Amino acid sequence: MQYISSRGEAPSLDFGDVLLEGLAIDGGLYLPNYWPSITTDGITKSPNGDESYIDVAIEILAPFTSGSLKREELRELVIRAYESFTHPEIIPLKELGPNMWLMELFHGPTLAFKDLALQLVGQMFDYELSKRQERITIVGATSGDTGSAAIDACRDRPTIDIVILHPHKRTSEVQRRQMTTVESPNVHNIAVEGTFDDCQDLVKAMFLDTKFRNEQNLSAINSINWARVMAQIVYYWWAAITLGRKDGQIEFSVPSGNFGNIFAGYGSYLMGLEVSKFIVGTNQNEVLHRFFQSGSMTATDVVPTLSPSMDIQIPSNFERLLFEMYNRDGTAVKETLAEFRSSGVLDVAPQELKEIQEKWSSARIDDDATLRTIAEIYKETGELIDPHTAVGIAAGKERRTSEENPLVCLGTAHPGKFPEAVIKATGKKPELPTSLQDLYDRTEHYSVLPNDYDLVRSYIEKIVRI
Ligand SMILES: *Cc1c(COP(=O)(O)O)cnc(C)c1O
Repeated sequence: MQYISSRGEAPSLDFGDVLLEGLAIDGGLYLPNYWPSITTDGITKSPNGDESYIDVAIEILAPFTSGSLKREELRELVIRAYESFTHPEIIPLKELGPNMWLMELFHGPTLAFKDLALQLVGQMFDYELSKRQERITIVGATSGDTGSAAIDACRDRPTIDIVILHPHKRTSEVQRRQMTTVESPNVHNIAVEGTFDDCQDLVKAMFLDTKFRNEQNLSAINSINWARVMAQIVYYWWAAITLGRKDGQIEFSVPSGNFGNIFAGYGSYLMGLEVSKFIVGTNQNEVLHRFFQSGSMTATDVVPTLSPSMDIQIPSNFERLLFEMYNRDGTAVKETLAEFRSSGVLDVAPQELKEIQEKWSSARIDDDATLRTIAEIYKETGELIDPHTAVGIAAGKERRTSEENPLVCLGTAHPGKFPEAVIKATGKKPELPTSLQDLYDRTEHYSVLPNDYDLVRSYIEKIVRI
């Protein structure tokens, strides 16, 4: 499989290169040069229909990694990636109401859906780097979930050092402890005396510092990396297979921020999965909702909400949808984005909006509605859900088109990760799973540094193992 850039001006690359490259050199995002077509019948080969998540993952991922990974190698990496998941099915589906399902994506080591992609990407990075006899330093800034998922995926890997910057005293305690209590020589946490934006600016400065960048072989595993989107495509197929929908239509509702998760769902549709609607749930940071309603995207300031992992104003993976919407015309994508950068507004024509709305709809769920949904689901089913998941469920209930079609709502975080909101809504304290119950007793490791580029850079030079 070859990969092409959404802006049409970067060389096409194979999977191994796309994995390590991240962003294309023309500033675009990589996509496969065609969507392989698959049917659920093609995946469910075993006579008793008892395919495991691992079996499904191999079928879906094989065409995307062909030419770079042999099937046996892929199999090995997939098995290892999901060994750390605590649920025997890896991703269970629970019925919440009439033909309405919760797909629980949070049984990985850091309790958020990001583990599904990052655990596999961590395995793939290590495999590819060992083959090339290279090493890298991954740097990233985090306000919460991504940092812990990336750390867990990269810990103990000989080819990687990972350095995560978080804003000192500005993350939740669970989130900070998940990052700082990891006992591994290649994991380095820096608490910056500043905000999340300061952390991001420091990371950007590192990538612009060519000498440092080259010496360290700097890399990122943020959500624009194709391999992360690819890994997420699998569970949309998994939902259809688990529900036994061989020829029906499914609706998916996804709490969205950077648009990586739901775009992966759209990828499954482009491969042939029968999906009648993609429902985008947003919190008060409603930029995506406005776009799907009006065909116009305008970014404003970020407001903090109960679902912090969706507090985003520029959804970076949206560019991938734009590329598909414009029939893969990279020049058109590039022009539209240049216009967006200069005017702050992205508009599509009425006819294009009409086509988009056939497959997509959206809802804005504010903090009050989020709390109401957590309370309602608890009352109706006895399940505690986290605030992100609640946004997806509320959006799905509001926008589903028919109870004939199963509605699958994506559960993106474990309720124990966001106890304050859950307690506020239900009066019940969600428990952390046994694997994390001693989180508050573990020793933390991190260094507090001032918001100063030279100090942070020289600190990193000292600690990584070149
Ligand atoms: C990252 C995250 C999201 C948003 O996912 P995107 O792929 O950025 O749209 C939603 N919920 C949780 C819990 C997350 O960590």
